[in-house]
Amino acid sequence: MSSNENIVIEVLKRLESVYRPKLEDYVALNLLKLNVSDFEFLVGVVLSQNTSDRNALRAFNALKKELGNSLSPESILNTPLEKLENAIKCSGLARRRVRALIALAKWFKENSELIERLRVLKSEEIRKLLMEVYGIGPKTVDVYILMKLGKPAFPIDTHIRRVLLRLGVVPKSSSYNYISTTIMSILNNDVTLLKELHVLLIEHGRRVCKARKPLCKQCVLIDLCQYGAKINSQ
Ligand code: SF4
Repeated sequence: MSSNENIVIEVLKRLESVYRPKLEDYVALNLLKLNVSDFEFLVGVVLSQNTSDRNALRAFNALKKELGNSLSPESILNTPLEKLENAIKCSGLARRRVRALIALAKWFKENSELIERLRVLKSEEIRKLLMEVYGIGPKTVDVYILMKLGKPAFPIDTHIRRVLLRLGVVPKSSSYNYISTTIMSILNNDVTLLKELHVLLIEHGRRVCKARKPLCKQCVLIDLCQYGAKINSQ
């Protein structure tokens, strides 16, 4: 095992022992608990782009209410733009998000047969298909593939990227794909471990390894961390 593999496995072990992530702090976990459809799940993840998960959940619930509790491609396409924008305004960037939701709704409507087959496709094939939709980037697709479809993927958000770069597990200039595939390979594409590490790294980035002032002196990973080693030696 390489030292990076050992570090990632140890990070997972230690973070598991300190955090119990709450459902309300994670859009994906919340939506899974509610057993929403694939379309609703993707709507929730689109609403969570560039905003907090709590705001995204508020916007999701407001949108659902506006649509009479029936959040479907048809109900989105049959609702005037202003009503959609108004319903999701608490998540910000309402105009751009509505454009993405409409593109997603059209895609689902036009590809109903394909959607039934998504579950038998490989992660890479699903990624290629969905990333053609306006507003759907690699992170959104990877959250859907990993959390909803239960297939191998490792979504990278700003917290995860920051923590992994500071730990020194991947080089500073690493691309999204490089970080994602490195972690997938270290965890042997084990979906349960990928899900756990995804949520725990976000939790750690929010609580301790903050963007501006990381709380290195309180961090359970300090002896594994390149950035933490510098802080320790000051
Ligand atoms: S030691 Fe500091 S930089 Fe390293 S993971 Fe912990 S909080 Fe982040």
